[in-house]
Amino acid sequence: MPVFCQIDDKHIPLSRIVWISDLPHFCGDADCQCEGQYEIRLESSESVWASLTEHDTAVEALQAWLLGQEQEDESN
Ligand SMILES: [Zn+2]
Repeated sequence: MPVFCQIDDKHIPLSRIVWISDLPHFCGDADCQCEGQYEIRLESSESVWASLTEHDTAVEALQAWLLGQEQEDESN
């Protein structure tokens, strides 16, 4: 069961992810460093920015983890 997913150079605990954007970031700001990347929002109101591959991996890991949580709840 995955507990972390790796985004960029960080291991993010799946329990801290609030949401994952399904669309690449676009704000039109010429100085924006996050253009075309996928925002992953964390509990602490911070965001990390993922490539498409990292986004897909994170969504899958989160789904697997949540499913595992539900099964744990049922067995209790
Ligand atoms: Zn931006």
